[in-house]
Amino acid sequence: MNSRIQNLYSFMERQSLDVLLVTMPKHVYYLTGFYTDPHERFLGLVLVKGQDPFLLVPSLDLEKAQQTSSVSTIHAHTDTQNPYAVLKSYLPSSITSFGVEKSHLTVAGFEALSSHVEAKVWADIEQPLREMRVIKTPEEIVIMKKAIRIVEDVLRAGVEKVRVGVTEMDIVAELEYQMRRLGSQGPSFGTLVLAGEKSGQPHGEPSNSVIKEGELLLLDLGVFADGYASDITRTFAVGELNAKNKEMYDVVLQANLRGIEAVRPDVTFASIDYAARKSIVDRGYGDYFITRLGHGLGLEIHEYPSVHGENQDKTREGMLFTIEPGVYVPGHGGVRIEDDVIVTADGVEVLTSFPKELTIIGV
Ligand code: MN
Ligand code: MN
Repeated sequence: MNSRIQNLYSFMERQSLDVLLVTMPKHVYYLTGFYTDPHERFLGLVLVKGQDPFLLVPSLDLEKAQQTSSVSTIHAHTDTQNPYAVLKSYLPSSITSFGVEKSHLTVAGFEALSSHVEAKVWADIEQPLREMRVIKTPEEIVIMKKAIRIVEDVLRAGVEKVRVGVTEMDIVAELEYQMRRLGSQGPSFGTLVLAGEKSGQPHGEPSNSVIKEGELLLLDLGVFADGYASDITRTFAVGELNAKNKEMYDVVLQANLRGIEAVRPDVTFASIDYAARKSIVDRGYGDYFITRLGHGLGLEIHEYPSVHGENQDKTREGMLFTIEPGVYVPGHGGVRIEDDVIVTADGVEVLTSFPKELTIIGV
């Protein structure tokens, strides 16, 4: 049994859980090596106190699970069976405390589960999973570096296609085509290509509007590789920028560098946010930096930790997150520069390497 699953058994012991059910597909992958998107079908990794773990999978996934899962006991349910009745048949008859993923199980899923399985206490199992996931292992770091290398190759290829007169969607399509071509599993979130005024919306929608000369062009993209997400933003100049846009770019670049400098072990996330934010505030753009500085990155595109001004949790070696300061001026435009960084034993390693100095493209 692998150490991740052993950790969950220890958690069960501490919390006096009789059964622990993992339903989030990414967590099933994290714990067993078997990934599937079951859509509405039931998928679960089940730990029963004193017994070996087992998987309960849709029958159409049985073969794949047998080939890839480190958990060797695998049961299947067919589309005509009630999966919760099947689950119940593999559980002890008397259960006091049952652990579930409260942030993943839907109300409908819980109603179906609790109508078949009786338990006095329904406990949440997020804590041990979050605790494990927040520290990336050397093996995970290798995969994250692969996801980052691919997205940087994608970004380079996409930038080549930028010309005055093409649309934001043309570039989105090119980037997402390259994501598949260059060996990723696809985008880790909806690719953003935002030109001109729209770069001033942190989560604007790319459209068929045309890229024009003299505009800022913001590209925010990521891919999944082997289940892990990368995330990078670069903002470019389509031709020569005016003085205001150049200033905004420099403000954000300096904040990005100050944020990265502040990363090392045993400092609060608030202190990292502050270092970047102060540099923006000092130059008079504080009102335009309206987001947190960054977010954890791994199996999910946004995960723990959140890098914001109220987070007093401290960094530890192996934590991986984004540093993405931005300045967003409504009706004018914006700049964001986003890197992925990891806390090392004595400082920080910046995993993204795409150049950050203001670059003119497309003309
Ligand atoms: Mn991003
Ligand atoms: Mn991000």
